[in-house]
Amino acid sequence: MSVGTELLLGEIVDTNAAFVARELSLRGVTLQRKATVGDNLERISGLIRESLSRADLVILGGGLGPTDDDLTREGIAAVARETPAEDRELLAWLSGLFTSRGRTMAPINRKQAWLIPSASALPNPLGTAPGWFVTLPDGHEFAGKRIAALPGPPREMNRMFREELLPRLNLPAWAFYAVTLHTSGIGESDVATHLGDLTKIANPSVATYARKTGTDVRVAASAKSAEEARQLAEPVLEQARTALGRYIWAEEKTGDAPATLAGAVIKLLAGRSLGLVEAGSGGTLALQFAGAAALKGAAISDDHATLLTLGLTPITLSRDGVCSEVAALELAHGARERFGTGVGLSVCAAAEGEQQGQVAIAIVGEGLERVASVNWPGDAGQVRERAASTALNLAFRALSAAEADQTQAGQTQVNQTQAGQR
Ligand code: AMP
Ligand code: MG
Repeated sequence: MSVGTELLLGEIVDTNAAFVARELSLRGVTLQRKATVGDNLERISGLIRESLSRADLVILGGGLGPTDDDLTREGIAAVARETPAEDRELLAWLSGLFTSRGRTMAPINRKQAWLIPSASALPNPLGTAPGWFVTLPDGHEFAGKRIAALPGPPREMNRMFREELLPRLNLPAWAFYAVTLHTSGIGESDVATHLGDLTKIANPSVATYARKTGTDVRVAASAKSAEEARQLAEPVLEQARTALGRYIWAEEKTGDAPATLAGAVIKLLAGRSLGLVEAGSGGTLALQFAGAAALKGAAISDDHATLLTLGLTPITLSRDGVCSEVAALELAHGARERFGTGVGLSVCAAAEGEQQGQVAIAIVGEGLERVASVNWPGDAGQVRERAASTALNLAFRALSAAEADQTQAGQTQVNQTQAGQR
């Protein structure tokens, strides 16, 4: 349960609920419902009661501040039918905290030292609001069920959830194993078609997510041990791998560093260096390769005179314009020449103006030439961002196709020219 009128007004995003959801799923706890309630005593206690009628544990975030509109303690007390009182130890800790910060404690802060008989305090190492951990007493209609309240500021809530609340829940050992297959060049509905009935099973579960980089497929299993969970997931994962084969650009396990499409492209470069020319995309593509040793240089310009020095020919400029496949191809060759690289990649985007949304991209290298164009409406920022991901997608597809061809042709050099979608 998230408590706070600001959440209902859409002023802040409920990141605490997302955090708790992730943490619980990793530990095999089935989260059945998330709810948000404003700073109103009756609605808070009403929602706690409603939740207790379904669940063994209710976790609340927010509403533990010192002001009148922080009503989580009052709400819990009403449900427990107990009266809050200042806890001597908590009060000593709290006033000590203020003294050590050279401040005097305002009277309104005293309620942060409150407890009810059924509650114990969850220490807060980062702020002035201790949490509450309540086990409802015998005789209560929800006897034995538990309520936890954590402060709203995410830093405090996250740390206290892990360090104070989780250990008190005595959860059975539970392990989770999840692998995400990142795909590109295939839409979510086609991914679903390829996966067939796989998306209908429960443990392991198979879910698809549309991302800027393409479609992600997540195969997840949970069991008593990590090894058991892995064994459960593996056969299904293998089926998904087979179904999506050439579209997969990376596999990512929980805990792995996030895989990026640029990282996959660099891998496929296999030691070759990369030069970029960006017209209209403002450096969004270069940024994707930030820190990559393979990137020898990037030229970023919207200026026609500059682009003419980078391989764009005057005739293309006047006949086809910068945002054309011909121009992209010339600039990809230009990138290769300018930076002396094995591979040249270019993107020509119309982020503004009449042609807004038009994007042409090209990749060239030894025995490699591919060009494509797309047109998606959007504002300037979206066009620039999509231009970069479209270029990465093209680069990935072109390089992996070239690699597959090379493997097929044994060790012989392949000299393949593809006209793309021209
Ligand atoms: P509170 O404990 O309700 O006084 O909340 C203190 C601050 O924590 C708020 O002003 C928000 O900035 C933040 N906060 C409260 N609830 C949430 C939430 N569910 N998700 C993210 N931030 C929150
Ligand atoms: Mg609040």
